Amino acid sequence: MKSLVDQVQETLLMGPGPSSVPPEVYSALSQYSLGHLDPFFIQIMDAIKSQLREVMNTTNQITLPMSGTGSAGMETVLVNLIEPGDSVLVLINGVFGGRMKEIATRLRADVDALEFEWGTPVKTADVKAQLAKKKYKLVAVVHAETSTGVANPVEEIGKLVHENGALYIVDAVTSLGGMPVMVDDWGIDALYSGTQKCLSCPPGLSPVTVSERAADVIRNRESKVPNWYLDLNLLMNYWEGATRAYHHTAPINMNYALYAALKVVLDEGLANVWKRHAEVHQYLIERLGELGFTMLVEEGARLPMLNAVVIPDGVEDKAVRGRLLNEHRIEIGGGLGALAGKIWRVGIMGHTARKESVDRLADALKQII
Ligand SMILES: *Cc1c(COP(=O)(O)O)cnc(C)c1O
Repeated sequence: MKSLVDQVQETLLMGPGPSSVPPEVYSALSQYSLGHLDPFFIQIMDAIKSQLREVMNTTNQITLPMSGTGSAGMETVLVNLIEPGDSVLVLINGVFGGRMKEIATRLRADVDALEFEWGTPVKTADVKAQLAKKKYKLVAVVHAETSTGVANPVEEIGKLVHENGALYIVDAVTSLGGMPVMVDDWGIDALYSGTQKCLSCPPGLSPVTVSERAADVIRNRESKVPNWYLDLNLLMNYWEGATRAYHHTAPINMNYALYAALKVVLDEGLANVWKRHAEVHQYLIERLGELGFTMLVEEGARLPMLNAVVIPDGVEDKAVRGRLLNEHRIEIGGGLGALAGKIWRVGIMGHTARKESVDRLADALKQII
């Protein structure tokens, strides 16, 4: 019988993730599997930690890929840092800020949320006012809100958070590898990302980094981390040190893929990668502008890698996306929540961020509409 996976077709992934995968990463995935304590695999683990520090612009000791997708990174950071009753402030202007609030609430933190209109960035003046009112243990924000295409002012917010004395948590799932993410310079205490957005690796791992200050908080918890699988204290015995102890079996081939994906990014150079995303973003606005499309987010707050495109009157959201996929093998994303039916989310992440991708999409849209 014919195998289903032999029938998978090449698809240009221009949605909110996953993004298209370069050949180097596919070939890494098909390398021989090794044991999780094989010295050669440990060498690869160590290389990944260094690569991640470079891509994240940090010297943090605790820097590793968690097993699981971006949400596992979110959960890791929150579950390790939060104890019941801790005061937490979450800044929300889209789906992923809301998800952080949900997790913090489940961990029985004392959660406050500042909400901002979807499609607009977090206002630093409001954050400043809130932080003047109350002392927090932890403040969390999403850098690149994939649900709306908005970039939040993470660097500015960081200064306010540190004046308050709180730990600063940043979601960089979509931003890492597509725009500057400066963990140390911006005073970020814990940051997580994902493999399938601008790192152009299939989904499955979540890079996490934790500052020394945050590591101290984790080491000095009153209660055990309530999630065994994501407990960084235990995981560091596998990811660090002269002798490694089994915790859970690392997804071996996914780690090869991440190594290859990070190598692609670092070989091109971070500055070049950021520039390419910015240029292809401008090109997308230009090409779609010619077809009469406008952008939801105001200039200055737009993400390069995730473009919220307003669906013009008379254009049917689902029908057009269906035809893009079925007739042209191009995937774009629909809107979420209040923005469903109103916007498309067009990703130009990592390997997808090339002018050819934009041309293929614009040509297909021209034909359909
Ligand atoms: C995609 C995404 C996540 C969740 O990642 P998964 O890989 O879907 O678990 C979290 N935050 C942001 C900003 C994202 O874009």
